[in-house]
Amino acid sequence: MEKYLSQLNDAQLAPTLQKDGPMIVIAGAGSGKTRVLTYRIAYLMSQGVDAFNILALTFTNKAAREMKGRIADIVGDSEAKNLWMGTFHSVFAKILRFEGHHLGFPSNFTIYDTQDSQKLLGSIIKEMGLDKDIYKTKQVYSRISSYKNSLITVKAYFSNPELMEADAMARRPKMGDIYKAYVDRCFKAGAMDFDDLLLRTNELLTRFPNVLAQYQNKFRYILVDEYQDTNHSQYLIVRALSDRFQNICVVGDDAQSIYAFRGANINNILNFQKDYDDVKVYRLEQNYRSTKMIVGAANSVIEHNKTKLDKIVWTANDIGERVIVHRSMTDGDEGRYVASTIWETKMNEQLPNSDFAVLYRTNAQSRAIEDALRKRDIPYRIYGGLSFYQRKEIKDVTAYLRLILNTADEEALKRVINYPGRGIGQTTIDRLVVAANATGRTIYDIMKDIDNVAININNGTKNKLKDFVTLIESYKVMNQTANAFDLAEHVTKTSGLIRELNKDGTPEGVTRMDNVQELLNGIKDFVEGQIELADAGDSLAEFLEDVALATDLDGDKGDPNHVALMTIHLAKGLEFPHVFIVGMEEDLFPSAMSMNTRSELEEERRLFYVALTRAEKQAYLTYTLSRYRWGKLIDAEPSRFIEEIEDEYVNITTPLKEQHFNPMLDASIFGDVEPNKIRFAKPKSPKFRKKETKSKPENFKISTPKKLKPVNASNGASNLFDSKLTVGNIVNHQRFGRGEVLKIEGAGGDLKAEIKFENGDSKKLLLRFAKLQII
Ligand code: ATP
Ligand code: MG
Repeated sequence: MEKYLSQLNDAQLAPTLQKDGPMIVIAGAGSGKTRVLTYRIAYLMSQGVDAFNILALTFTNKAAREMKGRIADIVGDSEAKNLWMGTFHSVFAKILRFEGHHLGFPSNFTIYDTQDSQKLLGSIIKEMGLDKDIYKTKQVYSRISSYKNSLITVKAYFSNPELMEADAMARRPKMGDIYKAYVDRCFKAGAMDFDDLLLRTNELLTRFPNVLAQYQNKFRYILVDEYQDTNHSQYLIVRALSDRFQNICVVGDDAQSIYAFRGANINNILNFQKDYDDVKVYRLEQNYRSTKMIVGAANSVIEHNKTKLDKIVWTANDIGERVIVHRSMTDGDEGRYVASTIWETKMNEQLPNSDFAVLYRTNAQSRAIEDALRKRDIPYRIYGGLSFYQRKEIKDVTAYLRLILNTADEEALKRVINYPGRGIGQTTIDRLVVAANATGRTIYDIMKDIDNVAININNGTKNKLKDFVTLIESYKVMNQTANAFDLAEHVTKTSGLIRELNKDGTPEGVTRMDNVQELLNGIKDFVEGQIELADAGDSLAEFLEDVALATDLDGDKGDPNHVALMTIHLAKGLEFPHVFIVGMEEDLFPSAMSMNTRSELEEERRLFYVALTRAEKQAYLTYTLSRYRWGKLIDAEPSRFIEEIEDEYVNITTPLKEQHFNPMLDASIFGDVEPNKIRFAKPKSPKFRKKETKSKPENFKISTPKKLKPVNASNGASNLFDSKLTVGNIVNHQRFGRGEVLKIEGAGGDLKAEIKFENGDSKKLLLRFAKLQII
């Protein structure tokens, strides 16, 4: 047996060694699904299957690269190179380059990213004179995206009264017209958006049986990772391509289906057995990623979902530590807790930053975490924000390059026609658009032919348009011989872009300059790689395609030793020794927008399952008592998901019952108030009460600094209400400074201390709230 196969257990070996026929591996998180896919490909190759005949579809391009890397270690680089591997979007973009002409697209079609698509929709809505507050571009975009992913073409839309009715009811009766205009404009611009890459592939495979046969023949073995998150459009492509040989292997976990909001269809996994004859179903049960505590916690959570396939997940790994639940007053405190815990763990256990990840439900939550990490000089990286390629200065450069390749690209043209400023105003651009729409020509075409077009533009401006055309034409000539790097460098210099950026001496301006330089470096790397592939002719087109499809996970450059910050959605498939899941609060996680139906709530729960199962050694759940949301400070309640974890797997280190207290009013100002005047929420359930009795004061320690340091919540100060504070102790209070404990009275949660502060004030403080540090 091949040596690498010994790195699989028996359950994993079975699907790995089944060479032919349809099969599905359904298994929980961390059980080696991705590993099985990887080794299976290596095994197929060892059995004489040609790499050119294997297609593997992954969730991110990064995952594809890693998989290819591992396969290369086994079968060698030169063979692994020939595998077709990547996301649905990147693989089918490549196929459309070859075959798009059947559908009337040029091989150098542009890929519109979300920003381009939304801009175009914005123009269309404006041109149609519609109210932009009703026709919000983002909403219109996602509506169109959902049509496309359900394969509802413009024609299908207009022959479906229910759809039209639904849009009319949503006060958007012109949706269909916008959809039509958008599709027409993309077509005319020689552009496809992300959803088109799937929709047009489907169109291609349905309308052109010869093309379908050709690719069925090519992709004799098809493998799909994260199958639970494929949408209808992707599902149909896989079905069509695998129809002839039926050598299809999909792996997935229904409990990790988290993209329904983007059209993913969990039924694709549930129905797989019905779609093919004689499907072999494999299950993996042993988790290799996480401790027993984490596996137990995750299992107990997902148990609460009604819609699920029954699965067993167990592990032979160490028992590990319970999942830690931590309460903070505010998101600022939460950030400090995360940062200080990372700091301490890192120091105590000598771990690299990259052992830690902070996961959140929404991107907006990253700010408080970032602030705290920065204060402690802990390097971090945010994934999934604006990707490098979506930054303005980068899009400006790539827009020039796009235009050189495809002058019909309307969004690229609009972006650079007057940037840097050339005295071509918005009115002129609007008139060009009208003329282009009226004649069916492209804007660039009209500009080229400006002397012969009836258009209300004065001669001075016409000359400026001609100059611009001349500039672009000169670039096009250069593109015929120069490589992408030389061309891009030339463009940045001669278009005035660099000059424009140079003018801006602010730190942001300097960063933008650096980014452009970084882009050029990237193009250089790319070109050098291309030459090796003897494919230099198309390097610019290929580079732009990579850029358009790059997700933030892909461009993982820079120092790899950083804490990773990302949304849970993005963390799918990844693993980290220590994982913090922050913002575990009702209305945030589960999200307020996902609590109307059982299925929405179950998707949120699956998301939580995904989050927990990213952790190898330790998981932390944090929640706050109040949080700024939508510009307001609101009371927060711990997430129901915390409660759903079986007691034996969690350690709730702070009591949960003061959840309605408003912590922005520094708790200690209640020092003089009778405790019963403070409003406490009732404990949520007997279970919660039970847990509270187990609680211990969090990270309480008596520190003895030589010099007084400013203290904050996560800095060693803590609520000392069941501590050993005694009369005569010298303490430091965040706001009142240093003082001496004169008297202690009350008990338990009502424990109070009378403290005389150095400024002369005496105060009675409720110890459950006062943040005191004994010195
Ligand atoms: P997810 O559902 O999160 O995508 P998965 O089922 O794809 O998880 P993998 O990522 O393939 O799981 O594996 C989880 C971890 O366990 C990885 O670090 C992998 O290398 C390791 N692993 C898998 N199988 C084995 C094995 N037989 N022996 C040792 N380690 C293994
Ligand atoms: Mg996986």
